[in-house]
Amino acid sequence: MTSSPAAPPDGICPSCSAPISVNPRFSAWCPACDWNVDPLKESAAPQGGRWQRKWRARRRAADRAAIERLFTEVSAVPDATGGRDGAGIIAMVIAGAVHLSTVALAAGSVWLLINGAFAGRILGVMGLAIAFLLRPRLGWFRQDMWSLSRTEAPHLYGLADRVAAELGVAPPDLIRVTPDFNASFGKVGLRRRSVLTIGLAVWEVLTPQERVALLGHEFGHSRNGDSRRGVLLQAALEALGHWYAMTHPRRILAGGSGPLSTIAAMIAAALLLVPNILTALTLFALHRLTLRNGQRAEYLADDLAAQVASSAAARSMLEALVLAESVKTVLQRQTARHQMGGFQRANGQEADYDLWRELRDHIATVPETERLRRLRISALRMSSVDTTHPPTHLRIQMMAVRKPRQAAITLREPETDAITAELSGARSQAAQAVLTLSY
Ligand SMILES: [Zn+2]
Ligand SMILES: [Zn+2]
Repeated sequence: MTSSPAAPPDGICPSCSAPISVNPRFSAWCPACDWNVDPLKESAAPQGGRWQRKWRARRRAADRAAIERLFTEVSAVPDATGGRDGAGIIAMVIAGAVHLSTVALAAGSVWLLINGAFAGRILGVMGLAIAFLLRPRLGWFRQDMWSLSRTEAPHLYGLADRVAAELGVAPPDLIRVTPDFNASFGKVGLRRRSVLTIGLAVWEVLTPQERVALLGHEFGHSRNGDSRRGVLLQAALEALGHWYAMTHPRRILAGGSGPLSTIAAMIAAALLLVPNILTALTLFALHRLTLRNGQRAEYLADDLAAQVASSAAARSMLEALVLAESVKTVLQRQTARHQMGGFQRANGQEADYDLWRELRDHIATVPETERLRRLRISALRMSSVDTTHPPTHLRIQMMAVRKPRQAAITLREPETDAITAELSGARSQAAQAVLTLSY
């Protein structure tokens, strides 16, 4: 591992001689020629053998080409639309086949239990156990420590309801507030009730109007035709994910403690290797088949965010997402300080400390050149908030292609303050969880 190049003392780029601004808080880089734009990448040692590296590079290039092609395609249409494509239909057929095979396995096992001989009945029990593992899981609708009720947070629910109404979708059944740098929206249980999860690490660094854009994007998922969120496919992905984890050789081998159980674990791992590979291939096929539709749906959710909060707010909300690393660094640093008793007063009492205000103040002082560097890194690494979203820099570029929109909902100061006051309990609970490493 090599260390990143030191900042040039004369403030001149060693590569192209352009003047560069040097700030001791951030790594020096050159916006003119991208010298040292991503020092971590240059110092990271390549992993795996030659073939593995080659295969990974080829897969990355193929993914990149597909994602860029989709960007060109979607940006050529003035208004993004959702809907299912051919690949999405094939994915649904595969998902249907997964569920049908579970039903067939369960039915066959019951038949064996009733009609089979002793060995047949043992097979029946094993079959039922596997069918139980593969059962469709729709999730539970339940309150947890991060949930907020309508009476606890009337203004936050009020804002969410307004955003949902503007987009013509159902209001949320539950809002959760967690410490994450992320937000999500999903439907759970047989009644498909909606749960909106807001991560404070992202919520706190956004301006009020950017928060409206964030909600607009999340509720946009209710009407953007994303096939991955359909109950059939979601349940199939969950079942396959469980099956993949259960049959993974590493997991099975880890279960063997004594010599006998180690031999049994080795036999089980060998027997389950083929099902494990088949599950991995099915999961990969479903991922590739729904990638285009899913990313198209994300661009549409960004469009809906702009419709609710304005194009400018949606764009700056997306620009804030590239600061994920900076947010992580602040939270880690403050946690380390807390672990060393840094927030205690002389009398040993815990000082009144607001982690989220500290985070917001820090992010507010990140200079333009560092924000630009983060954006360039996002483009170089094609990084996105998670594997289902298009790279953030392309989502930002898509905003520039679309017709600029005015805000349909504007968050005024009294409402912003009321929401912040409602969140005070959730804020301190989340801060405590981050600082004590209990999350
Ligand atoms: Zn340069
Ligand atoms: Zn999304």
